[in-house]
Amino acid sequence: MKNIYGLTLEQLEQYFLSHNEKSFKATQVFEWLYKRRVSSFEEMTNIKKETLEQMQKDFNMTSIHLLTKTEGKDVVKFLFGLEDSNKVEAVLMKHDYGNSLCVSTEVGCNMGCAFCESGRLKKVRHLETHEMVLQILAVEACLNIRISHVVLMGIGEPFDNYDNVIDFISIINSGKGIDIGARHITVSTCGIVPKIEAFMEMDKQVNLAISLHAPNNTLRNQLMPINKVYPIEKLIDILKKYIERTNRRVTFEYILLENVNDTDACALELANLLKGMNCYVNLIPYNETSHIEFKKSKQDTIMRFYDILKKNKINVTVRREFGSKVMAACGQLRSNYEEA
Ligand code: SAH
Repeated sequence: MKNIYGLTLEQLEQYFLSHNEKSFKATQVFEWLYKRRVSSFEEMTNIKKETLEQMQKDFNMTSIHLLTKTEGKDVVKFLFGLEDSNKVEAVLMKHDYGNSLCVSTEVGCNMGCAFCESGRLKKVRHLETHEMVLQILAVEACLNIRISHVVLMGIGEPFDNYDNVIDFISIINSGKGIDIGARHITVSTCGIVPKIEAFMEMDKQVNLAISLHAPNNTLRNQLMPINKVYPIEKLIDILKKYIERTNRRVTFEYILLENVNDTDACALELANLLKGMNCYVNLIPYNETSHIEFKKSKQDTIMRFYDILKKNKINVTVRREFGSKVMAACGQLRSNYEEA
């Protein structure tokens, strides 16, 4: 039996058409689910009884359940239990421009980045579409807020779960659904080139962020195994096409790791690599974890790195640190919960 929160509007329209019903029923159901937030089929009072009975045979509305909630300044971290008792995290960040939720896309991750906590716990399975949608609904219900921005930067590699992620984006972006504007949604990938290409062909207004973290193959191979499959030149090549085709700016995420990728030489090499591209670099102070030996760069090193990029006309910002006190770094909460 499918979970109803996993269907896009188009899929639900198809469902009703195949049951000899009008497709606008899908819009009505979407409104019950995402505008009025009902928790049972019986509450959908403008849908006739026989239709509701059929829907109850075909779908469930099972939610995910909250295991722990940890609060810090402007940040709330959630650990959710799934139906098969796997666990995922979501992190809410309160900005002056709105509430941004960082959602997980997989249980664990197989990308194996050296600095990342998620990769320590191997991928168990990908998340179903409804398990991503429900992270948003559960957080909104729990805090009685509306989420204005969504970043796919939690546990997992979104483009390793491509089809479900695309359906998820469709549901939350739909005006009939949760209605989060495409420009307020950001997908972050370690650089799976064929999926970046597929994403480009979809021509959505969704933001694309690339976890780069190194300016050359030698270093990137050490930090991110995916680079051995899709090296930097292939990555940059597809991103140039992406920018040309979509007219959109790409974000590069660059974690600063002390004495690893934070030298002046790295900054210069990065500036040369990105020169002339419509992009910006988001420098991320590393969120240290007890299991991994990397250290966070010193504040003055971060500023030097920033200055070198600036001087070389690269758009650059330093990411505000949200979660270090509540272990909000990718995967930390889940992996600490497993150990407790
Ligand atoms: N797999 C996707 C999305 C999840 S990771 C990706 O690679 O982009 C989201 C971002 O958090 C990535 O840029 C990742 O490199 C970064 N990250 C992982 N561990 C971190 C840590 N301990 N401190 C700061 N950023 C981290």
